[in-house]
Amino acid sequence: MVFPVDPDSPIHIKGIRWDGSVIQLDAKVVNEVGRCPSCQGASDKVHDRYLRRPFDLPWRGRTVRLSLTVRRFRCLNPACERGTFAEDCGPDLPRYARRTLEATNHLLQVARVAGGEVGARIAASEGLKVSPDTLLRLVRLSAPQATPCLRVVGVDDFALHRRQTYGTIILNLETRRPVDVLEGRDAETLANWLREHPGAEVIARDRSGAYAEGARVGAPKAIQVADRFHLVQNASAALDGMLRGRRLNVDEAEAAEAMAPSTTIVEEDGQEMSPPLSPTKRYVAERRAARVARWKRVKELAQAGAGIRQIAREVGISRKTVRRLIDAPLPPRNRVINPRPGGLRSPTLQPFVVYLQDRWQAGCHNVSQLHREIVAQGYAGSRSLLAQAVQPWRPSRLPTKQQQKVKRMTRRSMRWLCLRPPDQLKPGERALLGKLLDGDADLALGYDLLQGFRKVIEERDVATLDDWLGKAKSSHLPTFVALANGVDADRAAVNTALIMKWSNGPTEGHINRLKLIKRQGYGRAKLDLLRARVLAG
Ligand SMILES: [Zn+2]
Repeated sequence: MVFPVDPDSPIHIKGIRWDGSVIQLDAKVVNEVGRCPSCQGASDKVHDRYLRRPFDLPWRGRTVRLSLTVRRFRCLNPACERGTFAEDCGPDLPRYARRTLEATNHLLQVARVAGGEVGARIAASEGLKVSPDTLLRLVRLSAPQATPCLRVVGVDDFALHRRQTYGTIILNLETRRPVDVLEGRDAETLANWLREHPGAEVIARDRSGAYAEGARVGAPKAIQVADRFHLVQNASAALDGMLRGRRLNVDEAEAAEAMAPSTTIVEEDGQEMSPPLSPTKRYVAERRAARVARWKRVKELAQAGAGIRQIAREVGISRKTVRRLIDAPLPPRNRVINPRPGGLRSPTLQPFVVYLQDRWQAGCHNVSQLHREIVAQGYAGSRSLLAQAVQPWRPSRLPTKQQQKVKRMTRRSMRWLCLRPPDQLKPGERALLGKLLDGDADLALGYDLLQGFRKVIEERDVATLDDWLGKAKSSHLPTFVALANGVDADRAAVNTALIMKWSNGPTEGHINRLKLIKRQGYGRAKLDLLRARVLAG
């Protein structure tokens, strides 16, 4: 039985051997004649034969290796300087290759998905031994050298090493594919790229001055578009800046009542009954009762004139504790261990509040997706913490036990109340927000400005943007005045953001993917490698 490894391949398999660890495929090359690579002359004069042993795709976790007999021919052209040459093994086995093309392509896919270290382990488990360095070299070699010229360019920055070096990602917004990854995020970086890739008609970018300048210098004829997602984020950040460190005039008890129904259980005869204590709480209560009793006993003995030494012996505590209890005017309090705030109030989640809120409003309600995105931004908390935090944003179904628990309103949840789109608020929350804003004219003004700006962006209304800018500037709220001035300075690009459909939405997604790849890089994510993997995706 002799058959080719591929229909058109000159490599034919003659037999299969199993040596206990490796599957050996005995094979030969079936060319009529050899063709000299130097002079292209044909030759049928065999000089000698030798063995090539390239790896092929593994089979059922077992390493597969060709045992390929290759002939060396003598060149018959007397004018040719080459004496002998090896015959061509076809596209499946390039000259000097240690693996068949199929095996190399498979390793490349593994390396692109899993990176060097993990990829090497996966490949080894499949039966292909390869070093992490070799995998990374394959990825590097596979990267497109030249990138195409684009009509609609998206550009955004990302941190290569947090707060030290930054990179720039370039996207083709028409195909929504990344086309290049550059080192640096200054104007010069973008300008150079645009000069080398002429033809850009539209450039979507964030509101940073560097990219605006780079686009102006590198592609002066292109229309610049400010990114809508970034614009909304800027407005949310303006209100958030007002809320930070602000005293909120809300009665906590009142707030708790507005936010959730009471847990008080009313018995059938109308008498109120407090809910049964949990085992932990019962234990704490018992311990406290014992401590109070001990304090009373010490006080009584001291009043009766007993000495410290005598009291210590009688009650069975140290003299030091006796002195402390005698000095204490009130029974000792339980040491309060502050529970770590969960959900919306968790400090772990705080840095991502504004981002999450905007993503939620943009329609992303998928916790796993949101989790991936904020992890890529440095969130170190759990997915369940996030799920718990965004739960109140979902439309409420039947009231569950969880929801019936009294949630105490704190300053932090007030912040959420202000940042959440009003149509997502429950009636109780809306009333509470109204009360909050009634008592704070500045906050009410900032709140109106944020909602107004969201509306301008949502409805893509250039005409109302002027009104909004006027209101913001005359508001004397520093964060909103700054936002209005920033928008004014970048007015042309903001206008086109409202008129044109192009936005950096897809760029954000690729930035998140890039960060994931960067993390998978195990510290090896050098820029050329990062670029190769981002572009391969
Ligand atoms: Zn020759």
